[in-house]
Amino acid sequence: MTQRIYNFNAGPAALPLPVLEEIKQEMLDFAGTGMSILEISHRSKPFENVLNDSIARVKRLLGLSEDYQVLFIQGGASLQFSMIPMNLAIAGKPLDYVDTGTWSTKAIKEARLLGKDVRVVASSQDKEFTYIPSEVPVDGKAAYLHITSNNTIRGTQWRAFPDAAGLPLISDMSSDFLSRRFDPNPFALIYAGAQKNLGPAGVSIVILRKDMLARVPKELPSMLRYTTYAENNSLYNTPPCFAIYVCDLVLKWLEETIGGLEQMEKINDQKAETLYGCIDSLGFFRGTARADSRSRMNVTFRLPTPELESKFLAEAGAAGLGGLKGHRSVGGCRASIYNATTMEAVRALVEFMKDFASKNG
Ligand SMILES: *Cc1c(COP(=O)(O)O)cnc(C)c1O
Repeated sequence: MTQRIYNFNAGPAALPLPVLEEIKQEMLDFAGTGMSILEISHRSKPFENVLNDSIARVKRLLGLSEDYQVLFIQGGASLQFSMIPMNLAIAGKPLDYVDTGTWSTKAIKEARLLGKDVRVVASSQDKEFTYIPSEVPVDGKAAYLHITSNNTIRGTQWRAFPDAAGLPLISDMSSDFLSRRFDPNPFALIYAGAQKNLGPAGVSIVILRKDMLARVPKELPSMLRYTTYAENNSLYNTPPCFAIYVCDLVLKWLEETIGGLEQMEKINDQKAETLYGCIDSLGFFRGTARADSRSRMNVTFRLPTPELESKFLAEAGAAGLGGLKGHRSVGGCRASIYNATTMEAVRALVEFMKDFASKNG
């Protein structure tokens, strides 16, 4: 019997235990094929069913209209930093970005590498990206407005999205995709690397409003064009079949076991409130994000000294609480509490934190 720990990794991250058990159970014989999902053709009916089921589940969970298409693309969220400006820029129009830290900064850098006219219309760099800008100027002359809904490293998250007033709104939702309800209709494109909140590494989901396809330049390489994925139901070439299969199981778990986004949001709010409540009440830990901008997915905090942080991480690890080290670029501690992280895990962490504070405070 293996011992599973409480996993607070930022990504790749915890998957729902029932999903891992289902994978194990049908690993050698998938859907009565006598073969593993790892061994079947991406053109076979059983795989096509998996792909179409996952697309249908995403559409139902988000309440997407027929105006949207769901695509699976490799290259991580990082490839989308390039594909978005390549496909959706319009000659003579600026590309507007909000800079809320690391991943936004990288998206901006990639668009500039392509020689595009990129404008940073709002930023929280002045305070080390510890908050979400409240004012985002929206200019109808831009080709689109790009934001990052949840900032995985700095632990901030948009509560309400900016009113883009008809300007195509684009969001990197890698670290809070399907964690809460929101109105998808203002968005022209939503993308997320799977390995935070949706499944394993190796695939990204891209939700594209179909009118955007008219912008795609014909001279782009096939593999870098959204039209290629849209016209071939993400089956132009061999997709990452196993990653998509696991995403489908996670989506089924979210819909059928959890009961959808309203339920998921309630659970996620409860987890975040419990953890921030602990941080705020003990007077020992210090949350790094401004209170009104706190992420409900990545809870970032510091201890009074770097020595205490090292001790905290070591003792947490020994107590079966893993993945609490902050990103190497910012240090400190971070508890990632994505959809698959249970309330039980959060309670165990809070008990550990109380105990640690009382012994070291
Ligand atoms: C992890 C992360 C990325 C990078 O994802 P890759 O799949 O590794 O390219 C981009 N944006 C956000 C918000 C992330 O959390």
